[in-house]
Amino acid sequence: MGFTVAIVGRPNVGKSTLFNRLVGKRLALVDDQPGVTRDLREGAARLADLRFTVIDTAGLEDATDDSLQGRMRRLTERAVGLADVCLFLVDARAGITALDQALADLLRRAGAEVILVANKAEGQAGSGGTWDAFGLGLGEPVAVSAEHGEGMQELYTRLAPLV
Ligand code: GDP
Ligand code: MG
Repeated sequence: MGFTVAIVGRPNVGKSTLFNRLVGKRLALVDDQPGVTRDLREGAARLADLRFTVIDTAGLEDATDDSLQGRMRRLTERAVGLADVCLFLVDARAGITALDQALADLLRRAGAEVILVANKAEGQAGSGGTWDAFGLGLGEPVAVSAEHGEGMQELYTRLAPLV
């Protein structure tokens, strides 16, 4: 599978948007491979000259509040087990939530290599949430906009020494 990057985070932070930006049209090829589950989508990612496998943790969207935390934990643990590094996405506009905090604790306990990513940070809209993300204790957040393609150079700078 080569170097593997998992995109983790609570629902609606923009994981799939970032996944699609990194994978583009190449997902169609990967989808045909056996072993691709509904909950962990795998694709061949490209970021400038970097090539790696990326895993999107999906399948949480239809969870109820009751089942969400447990499902998120199990799914994230599986992704961490497969990945060399996790991109831990938070929503810079929404700020840090209890679910973000719970996932941060899980990633820390699992000893995962984490790059903290504050998404939806296009313009100045996310600067407060990006600042708050420092409080997760997972290092300096990379401010990006998965939707608008901003911050990809900074993300590259953080990933390149690892890939
Ligand atoms: P996921 O549940 O974490 O996979 O999140 P999605 O990728 O499905 O995105 C959830 C919502 O956030 C969608 O409405 C996206 O269009 C929106 N979104 C994703 N990335 C960005 C971004 O960079 N900026 C803004 N403003 N919205 C975004
Ligand atoms: Mg998704």
